[in-house]
Amino acid sequence: MFTMTKEVILTGVRSNDQPTLGNYLGAFLPMVELQRKFAGAYQVNMFVPDLHSLTTPVDHGGLYANTVMSLKYYAAAGLDWRNQDTFIYRQSFIPAHSELAWILDCFTYFGEMRRMTQFKEKAGDGEENVSVGLLNYPVLMAADILLYGARWVPVGDDQRQHLEIARNIALRMNRKFGDELFTVPETWSKQLAFAGRTEGVRIRSLSSPDKKMSKSVQDPRGTILLSDHPDTAAKKVLGATTDSLGRISFDWQRQPGVTNLLQILALLQGKPQGEINADWLDKPSYGELKQAVAKALSEFLEDFQAKLRGVDEAALLDGLKTSEKAMNQIAGGTLLRVQTAVGLRPRR
Ligand code: ATP
Ligand code: MG
Repeated sequence: MFTMTKEVILTGVRSNDQPTLGNYLGAFLPMVELQRKFAGAYQVNMFVPDLHSLTTPVDHGGLYANTVMSLKYYAAAGLDWRNQDTFIYRQSFIPAHSELAWILDCFTYFGEMRRMTQFKEKAGDGEENVSVGLLNYPVLMAADILLYGARWVPVGDDQRQHLEIARNIALRMNRKFGDELFTVPETWSKQLAFAGRTEGVRIRSLSSPDKKMSKSVQDPRGTILLSDHPDTAAKKVLGATTDSLGRISFDWQRQPGVTNLLQILALLQGKPQGEINADWLDKPSYGELKQAVAKALSEFLEDFQAKLRGVDEAALLDGLKTSEKAMNQIAGGTLLRVQTAVGLRPRR
């Protein structure tokens, strides 16, 4: 019987499409860095949220292969999945995720879900034709977190509101059923401090830097896929949209294109943002900045893709089975506690 004794750090990237540089810098890399920093002290859950993949149109024929591919991406990003405190799993292989999501749904308000910025952005003017799953996915995400009592959830800035929803649901149910029901995930500011950052990571599209880089949005010039040929990726950077101010400063409001490049450079080089900003401050040449980012990016992709080719898929799938067994036990235990609290199971 597996029991959890350590605090949990948890994150995942849905497997609907090919992962982007945004996913790498906003989710894979922070998780791997936390794993390295806190090895032994925390439990790490890095799962594939395959159920989340169904919220937007997806190629169903390719979905399962993408799920396995996602796990390989985690390994290539440096996740030490063999570590005894690390668990990799597929969400749909742990039925408690869907079951808890339903219960949480009934403690979540329609109004709070439809106000979510990401829902409004993704639904656009077509609210009549978007799936209820898209409206509802933050509740499933809350279940993903609460099932394992995860306090630490390293996600990109776009998931900030959804993390807050997970906190609100947990607090609301704890008020009703007692504080021992759920471990409440930490606030956004504590998450940032834990990850050693002052602001969330939000990689923008290279062609429209007012928008975030997303894997499900058709924006080939603005999106770097982790599978892009390094030369193709470099060309996209060289063609990135900037502005006509003719100076380089870290300023999301006035210079989002340039700021995006500065952020990508700092994260790829593993240097503090302040140091990169100081290096480039008031240099007039956007061309030089683009060259530096293009070089860092193509070197990164070459190395990443070589690591991806080297992943031992059979061993990974074997590890997955053991890990899913343990997580089914944990998730099942939480679900039973909640089922009992809400009156679906007898109280002992
Ligand atoms: P989709 O368009 O399919 O929603 P996505 O790129 O937003 O794709 P998700 O699977 O929704 O990817 O998100 C997975 C993780 O990647 C989350 O932690 C999210 O915050 C992070 N992430 C996604 N895009 C970015 C981005 N542009 N910058 C930083 N982090 C990001
Ligand atoms: Mg998303």
